[in-house]
Amino acid sequence: MKVKGILVVVSGFSGAGKGTVMKMLLEKYNNYRLSISATTRKPREGEENGREYFFKTKEEFEKMIEENRLIEYADYVGNYYGTPRDYVEKQLECGKDVILEIELQGALQVKEKFPETLLVFLTPPCAQELKARLEGRGTEDNNTIMARLKRAAEEAAYMDRYDCVLINDNLEKCVDDLHGIIQSEHWKAGRNKELIDKMRGELETLK
Ligand code: ADP
Ligand code: 5GP
Repeated sequence: MKVKGILVVVSGFSGAGKGTVMKMLLEKYNNYRLSISATTRKPREGEENGREYFFKTKEEFEKMIEENRLIEYADYVGNYYGTPRDYVEKQLECGKDVILEIELQGALQVKEKFPETLLVFLTPPCAQELKARLEGRGTEDNNTIMARLKRAAEEAAYMDRYDCVLINDNLEKCVDDLHGIIQSEHWKAGRNKELIDKMRGELETLK
């Protein structure tokens, strides 16, 4: 029986640890495919085109929008970010669980288009820790950090629109919890209609 993969969205405040959690999840478990987004943001030191993001000009990005090549896109603190459609659809069709690490507006767009999507919101244990992680990462200047903290306060208003809220305190535990959440999703009755129909059919023949 062919089970289609689960589409999982992981969002969370900038600095919550999404990138770190994703990296460990993919290293530890072989089950997942991570979608690589397109963005107009400039690469950070160490980032490579096609690995962390597909880095695009504004014109290139807007062409992708026009050609309907993105599942969703959003403007985040002055830059476009979006999910290329092709890869996600192909992997889901092959039965792989696909993870989108995207921000809130994109997450809500995806949930509206594909209601069976699992939405997970990642948060540090407290706001002070968020600030410390953003500062500790050292990749943004002070103004950008302040803009991202302001954005976090706005995003917090939508945390309860997600299916799960997951705390990233102990990294390893957070990764294992996320794996558990996604795996248990496979057993939901609504995702196993074929199995249910098969059992019903077989039981009829035994009557
Ligand atoms: P995001 O992708 O959500 O913006 P990052 O993965 O870049 O966040 O993490 C932000 C910073 O917090 C990084 O310096 C990272 O090493 C650190 N970090 C991530 N997870 C934890 C954790 N569980 N405990 C302590 N520091 C963490
Ligand atoms: P960063 O610039 O720190 O890499 O990412 C900024 C924000 O953009 C993060 O919250 C990240 O999850 C989000 N993001 C990354 N890719 C996408 C995408 O394809 N679509 C949307 N909507 N958000 C994205």
